[in-house]
Amino acid sequence: MSKQVTIIGGGIIGLCCAYYLQKEGYDITVIEKGDLTDGTSFGNAGYVSPSHFTPLASPGIVAQGLRWMLSSTSPFYIKPRLNLDLIKWLMTFWKQANAQTLHKNIPPLNDLLHLSRDLTSDIKNDIGNHFRMAEVGCFMLYKSAATEKHEIELAKEAAQLNIDTKIFSAQEVQAMEPDVQVDVRGGVLYPIDCHLHPGDFMRTLKTHLQKAGVKLQLNTTVTGFEKKGNTVTAVITNQGKFDCSQLVLASGSWLPVVSEKLGVSLLLQAGKGYSMTYENVPRNLRYPAILVDKRVAMTPMGADLRMGGTMEISGLNSPVLEKRAQAIYNGAKAYYPDLALDMMPKEKIWYGLRPLTPDGLPYIGHHSKYANLVIAGGHAMLGVSLAAATGKLVEELIGKKMTSIDVVAFSPERF
Ligand SMILES: Cc1cc2nc3c(=O)[nH]c(=O)nc-3n(C[C@H](O)[C@H](O)[C@H](O)COP(=O)(O)OP(=O)(O)OC[C@H]3O[C@@H](n4cnc5c(N)ncnc54)[C@H](O)[C@@H]3O)c2cc1C
Repeated sequence: MSKQVTIIGGGIIGLCCAYYLQKEGYDITVIEKGDLTDGTSFGNAGYVSPSHFTPLASPGIVAQGLRWMLSSTSPFYIKPRLNLDLIKWLMTFWKQANAQTLHKNIPPLNDLLHLSRDLTSDIKNDIGNHFRMAEVGCFMLYKSAATEKHEIELAKEAAQLNIDTKIFSAQEVQAMEPDVQVDVRGGVLYPIDCHLHPGDFMRTLKTHLQKAGVKLQLNTTVTGFEKKGNTVTAVITNQGKFDCSQLVLASGSWLPVVSEKLGVSLLLQAGKGYSMTYENVPRNLRYPAILVDKRVAMTPMGADLRMGGTMEISGLNSPVLEKRAQAIYNGAKAYYPDLALDMMPKEKIWYGLRPLTPDGLPYIGHHSKYANLVIAGGHAMLGVSLAAATGKLVEELIGKKMTSIDVVAFSPERF
């Protein structure tokens, strides 16, 4: 077995693969087109959430999505365009959004989430909590009776998966958030969830990996590959050629763009989301919360507060739509009316691209076309939640070990 691994993509998935591989003594190069100071893995909501055991493709999502698409400020939007990859993705998503597939996919996702939750704590203990990880759980807050009913149903499903929940009235939620007014009907708390500052997590991992001898080849874009038989022998970039023994593709929303150069087609669309971060908020939230009726995520990160949301399937290079970020802000104000925060100016609105597979499960596994290729991507809205487990599984796959959990459901060749 060769001890050299090249990883393409330095997002949270690529860095967590590097983390577990370097522990086993591999010589690692991470090739990254950016400079590792920003990107999808930096400005997200930072939840590590076993509560999110329902994959994106679920019954009712298509009808809900169609209703939302009629409103320009709804949480979901697909930019209409004649694009074959988008049409294939949508058709597959449609086929996967049924009860049978959902029930098949919940157990493997649940296993992956729990493995990752435990491993994220292990990483914190190993490299130090320099990323504001707080283990206080996460609220699902609701305003309407219909959403309350749905969330209580979900809490019952969670109980079947041995996930603990606590249901609170409006008064009880308010008592837990004494510094801000909370205008809700009630909420479900998932105590097992935790949250962190994803940008700080990335920076801490980067420093740790550099100290451990991992080579971070930044500002370097992969443009092609050299192959011999069924083996990838080198990665071609705008900075020259890098020989490789084992190859991991972890290029996030650009996964199909890179895999195509190997003749491997993967169904994946970018789901754009926005966030706005307020620093040193005087009366901050104590608990992170998903404002379910508005699909907004609120995350206190130490003294800072981040609000984020929306899902926009509009390709890799679409402009920032201010009114969608405004809808996030309005959603936050509807739940926390006395939050003394102004809407952010356009230049301070952050956006990231969630890599979406058509069934909501990530791609983690070898590809049969090559003897030395592992794919790790497509983590949608769960990249932070699932990064540690993905890194561990990739190390086990490359080391030809028995994997910590069954990875069949995550096969990159399942569509
Ligand atoms: C608003 C928002 C909120 C979110 N909240 C959460 C949350 O609370 N919890 C959670 O778990 N997840 C959350 N997510 C999702 C999470 O951010 C993503 O799933 C995760 O960041 C994806 O990580 P990645 O490493 O796969 O991709 P990325 O972070 O995009 O990394 C891929 C890297 O590959 C590089 N790359 C691409 N092509 C090439 C090339 N040709 N050559 C070299 N390098 C290349 C890119 O530059 C990039 O840095 C959220 C996302 C958004 C947008």
